[in-house]
Amino acid sequence: MAEGTPTPKKKKPVTVMQDRLKGYQSRLIDISPDNPHLSLTRAYVCAFAIIAALTIAGHLVVSYTTTKQKDDAEITFAMTGMRSLIDIGVSNASSYRTSGNKFDGDLLRDTLKRLKDTRTVLRNYNDGDVNQMFAEAPYLLDDRMEDFVESALDFMSYRSTDKFEKFRDEFVDLTRDAKAFSIKLDQAIELYHENVTAQIAWSHRIQYFTAMIVLSVLLLEAYYIFRPLVKRLAAYSKELIRLALEDELTGLKNRRAVMQMANAEISRFTRTAKPFAVVLCDLDKFKTVNDTYGHKVGDLVLKHYAKLMTNSLRGYDVIGRFGGEEFVIMLPQTEPDKALAIINRFRETVASTPCPYVDKNDQQQLLKFTSSFGIAAVKSHKPVSLDTLLIRADECLYEAKDKGRNCAIMVVLEDKPAAAPITPPPGEVPV
Ligand code: GH3
Ligand code: MG
Ligand code: MG
Repeated sequence: MAEGTPTPKKKKPVTVMQDRLKGYQSRLIDISPDNPHLSLTRAYVCAFAIIAALTIAGHLVVSYTTTKQKDDAEITFAMTGMRSLIDIGVSNASSYRTSGNKFDGDLLRDTLKRLKDTRTVLRNYNDGDVNQMFAEAPYLLDDRMEDFVESALDFMSYRSTDKFEKFRDEFVDLTRDAKAFSIKLDQAIELYHENVTAQIAWSHRIQYFTAMIVLSVLLLEAYYIFRPLVKRLAAYSKELIRLALEDELTGLKNRRAVMQMANAEISRFTRTAKPFAVVLCDLDKFKTVNDTYGHKVGDLVLKHYAKLMTNSLRGYDVIGRFGGEEFVIMLPQTEPDKALAIINRFRETVASTPCPYVDKNDQQQLLKFTSSFGIAAVKSHKPVSLDTLLIRADECLYEAKDKGRNCAIMVVLEDKPAAAPITPPPGEVPV
């Protein structure tokens, strides 16, 4: 079993566990607070906040522009309405001058009232530009409107035959004030329209600019944050899958992975009836290795054994560590004889390839060891479960240990041919 002078160790040294933990820790994912994925997450949150702020800003700009456009349209409509009311007022005055009818006078009064109402409506918008045009030079629209209304009222108060001269002069005043008012109002409307168009153009530029920034931030975020995040997540999930399916010590598939693959192989066998074999391998007297040379050397032997398995078996054979010093092999599409030959060849390789290790005196040594095998081979069989195969392989392994170890015992699961039908002798009635 072993070479060199065995010096049994009663206690496992603490350093062995420390060494093993060091090995595991070096392979773990970094989950410390300094892990770069946290900085990426922070950057993602910042970029997200920027996009949210810009989106809100964009929305406010759009909302401002729409409200402004609506108000501007209404203000322009009201100012244009005032402009028409001046013409209507002059026309009413002209009719009244000719006819002297009370009806025409009432129409003029009504037009003046509508003019004042429209001014109130405009005041309610509280628009700086409009207020300025009505109150301040050069337009002074309020003053001009007042002049026009006053001269219209004066004109109506002199409608009598004895004061006809005065009445005619008042009409001249009215038309002069109307003209002055309408010229300034036309100019004001034009200027207002120009201002509004310029303001809306600015809003559109801001909207466009905001949208461009949002787009750029999104692109930068995708490149500098999403891409690394996704890469990192992919690496993590790969690592998690590896941890879930791989044996840390040997790098072979672990029990879970082997069971999954074995089940897949069994269902394939059920479909195609291709032969295969399940092999349980157990290192002989491995406890003595640990007790004699220490756990660390025991680990080296397990790794060495796993390497021999990988190198000696075929690429498509499934190899895994079942636990402790037990390993499992699935030999797909392999006849029982071939399976036994493969395993015996591997057994001889193990026995003739000792594990190198460094002893306490820093001397290179070689440790010879062997292993035993239990093989459950399936040739042609009704559907068989993995549990059954493992139990049968374990029985064989037990037998191999019993027979002195370093050997392989195989059981072949094969359906017996159906018994020939019994033909009754002539004359007898079949039962
Ligand atoms: P047998 O020939 O009958 O199989 O004898 P054995 O000594 O190999 O079997 P036993 O079940 O008595 O002992 C198995 C030993 O394997 C005990 C345990 O300490 C050791 N072992 C299990 N897992 C590990 C491991 O990961 N590393 C090391 N170094 N030893 C391990
Ligand atoms: Mg064992
Ligand atoms: Mg053993």
